[in-house]
Amino acid sequence: MSQNRTLNDIRALLEQVQRVLIVSHIMPDGDTLGSALGLAWALRARGIEARLSCADEVPADFAFLPGLADYAVRPLTDEQAVLVVDSSDLERIGSIYGEAAFARVPVVNIDHHVTNLSFGNINLIVPKASTAELVLDVITFLEIPLDQRIATCLLTGVVTDTRGFRTSNTTADTLRAAVRLVEAGAPLSEITDAVFSHRSLDTLRLWGPALSNVQRRGRIVWAEITQEMLREAGVDISAAGGLVNFLSSFHEAQVAIVFRELEDGRVDVSMRAIPALDVSQVALAFGGGGHPQAAGCTVVGTLPDVRERIIAALQEQWTERPSDERAPQRLDGTDVRPA
Ligand code: 5GP
Ligand code: MN
Repeated sequence: MSQNRTLNDIRALLEQVQRVLIVSHIMPDGDTLGSALGLAWALRARGIEARLSCADEVPADFAFLPGLADYAVRPLTDEQAVLVVDSSDLERIGSIYGEAAFARVPVVNIDHHVTNLSFGNINLIVPKASTAELVLDVITFLEIPLDQRIATCLLTGVVTDTRGFRTSNTTADTLRAAVRLVEAGAPLSEITDAVFSHRSLDTLRLWGPALSNVQRRGRIVWAEITQEMLREAGVDISAAGGLVNFLSSFHEAQVAIVFRELEDGRVDVSMRAIPALDVSQVALAFGGGGHPQAAGCTVVGTLPDVRERIIAALQEQWTERPSDERAPQRLDGTDVRPA
């Protein structure tokens, strides 16, 4: 469906509601939080009561986002619509999803993941660099003026998902969106600083052992975080966030992976790929999702078991060529370099 028709549908729906629930995904990041909060402030300017929900606790690192304290583990009650942001499927919102409750009201799915399952009654799915840019499109379409609050929330989404405008899906459109947000008062350097430069020393105590045991098989480089490592460092699992981006900065790592052992017998898998490769399809095959260059999934099994299954699935996607491991290849095995 054309984007404008979808935006029209969203406008028509929002004209009829007084209360909405805006839901962020589990293990929330800057894009899901910034997108939800930016949307909430914009809808409130229109007189709509916007409530924020997330199944997981929101990280204190994002306390600078206006309205972050309004988040709660809030199920759908008397709201007349649900807006789910930055989630490629409903599993991604964890315990907030309830089949019966969600069947009662329109579900609006606003997301930028190519792996999105179109679970909403209205699906605004555009593969931009961040969901925040899509929310900006919605706000623009609704002719709601930007203010500093909205702009700060949305720019945080753009900055985090593009890793500071460095990912391969950062386009001129992304930069134009950022310019509008900065012009509306979003403090770019403060956001960048808050998002990228506030790691604790405890984080380093976790990354140290993880990095000293880093492993490589062909073009895949990975690190593992076990529950025991978390206990020893005295940190929770969110301290491993960002480790996969760091790993991917080593040129041997055409694919970088961090495997995190969860408490419930599952393993969280976080993957990054160079632009010539695609990790989203393996993530999707394991029940997760994401983008070609950044994807993830949560898989039942022990860490070694999940690691072997993921690596095998990735290797199946391309033909390993031991004589020239660093030559990037397309997924069908053909060389991406010009002949
Ligand atoms: P990250 O590695 O930063 O946690 O996630 C990378 C990308 O993959 C993000 O766009 C994120 O939404 C997606 N992703 C990570 N884990 C999962 C998962 O378990 N399920 C789904 N659907 N997507 C995931
Ligand atoms: Mn996102």
